[in-house]
Amino acid sequence: MCKSRPFKNKKISLDEYSELNFGIGPRTQLEKHGIPVLQNLPVGQKLYDHLTFVGLTYTLNESIVAQQEDLTKLKTITDYLSEGGGPLSGFGGVEVFTYIKTTESKEKKKKYPDIELIFIGGNMGTDLGLIHRRTFRITDEIYDAVWKPLENKPAIMILPMLLHPKSFGYVELQSKSPFDYPKLHGNFFTDAEGHDIKTFVAAIREAQRIARSPSMQRYDAKLHSVPIPGCGHFRFDSDEYWECAVRHTSPTLHHQVSTCKMGPNHDPEAVVDSKLRVYGVKNLRVADCSVIPMPLSAHTNTPSIMIGEKASDLIKDEWLNKVDGRKIDIRYAQTRISDYPDLDQNSNEL
Ligand SMILES: Cc1cc2nc3c(=O)[nH]c(=O)nc-3n(C[C@H](O)[C@H](O)[C@H](O)COP(=O)(O)OP(=O)(O)OC[C@H]3O[C@@H](n4cnc5c(N)ncnc54)[C@H](O)[C@@H]3O)c2cc1C
Repeated sequence: MCKSRPFKNKKISLDEYSELNFGIGPRTQLEKHGIPVLQNLPVGQKLYDHLTFVGLTYTLNESIVAQQEDLTKLKTITDYLSEGGGPLSGFGGVEVFTYIKTTESKEKKKKYPDIELIFIGGNMGTDLGLIHRRTFRITDEIYDAVWKPLENKPAIMILPMLLHPKSFGYVELQSKSPFDYPKLHGNFFTDAEGHDIKTFVAAIREAQRIARSPSMQRYDAKLHSVPIPGCGHFRFDSDEYWECAVRHTSPTLHHQVSTCKMGPNHDPEAVVDSKLRVYGVKNLRVADCSVIPMPLSAHTNTPSIMIGEKASDLIKDEWLNKVDGRKIDIRYAQTRISDYPDLDQNSNEL
């Protein structure tokens, strides 16, 4: 955080900038790295994320999805360009989303789900291990054992995503430099009651139930029974096996939230108020996923766009009111060009 006023009208280099930083965050962390404390707040003290289990694969007797080789065929390209159809019009390989409430849900009275099941119309080997395996950081050992045999074969994956984990991690500074990435500590599956891992196993059982349905059996969906390396000592398909498999192959879907939590000022974990303003710092808002106080029953891209939209409304509301000192309905703010006689009224530029 750079304090701009003392350096007004002075050009500073990036190196100098990095020397001039001030911090908003936990005092102990900032002082540890010799960063002057602008405001002591619990930034990064709580980090929630969405993990997804990628080890539930089903082989089919017929290819209902595009294979890697299909994607580069001329027909595939012309189908997409002429009709907007064909394999290239697919939704990133995701065919179906289902939201379920597992038997492990602690929210007995509430109706919201605890798992999202993501049905992928292919498997880790469909792209020949070129993309998804790297995105999910699957090791060579696991890929070669489990998915390499499925390259160019019809198989799908059902990915359970844990929506409301009880485990949470934290973020800490690596150094004083703003150019160094912070350290993210996930602390996944560390909740005392083992709720998170049990919920994953319950979700796998529900996915298996769906896989036994007539719609899936039409394609002779069969559980791919090559054990995840490291879990072969457990009986395949036992709860213990799935617990082990979940711990070995559950990457993040990058939905990190809560590191600048929104909350009332009596909440010791809160960093911003309900108008996104940072507590104790003037003229500073946070408008991104970090303000989301707890993990959502959703992915985070749309919510972050929504937060950005809301932030722009809040800022317009505050500053337009300041301009002429009386209430302006921001819906009509742009039509008030006549309030500014110095402007060229025929110009489109404001
Ligand atoms: C690989 C991947 C796949 C994903 N897939 C999906 C999906 O399918 N659906 C979904 O809903 N969500 C998805 N997400 C999550 C979603 O993209 C994020 O939750 C969302 O983009 C977060 O928005 P944000 O504004 O909080 O942060 P970001 O989108 O990360 O925006 C932060 C911005 O700040 C800029 N920035 C950083 N440091 C500085 C600095 N010092 N000065 C100035 N600018 C800076 C960055 O360049 C960036 O533009 C995915 C995320 C990843 C990583």
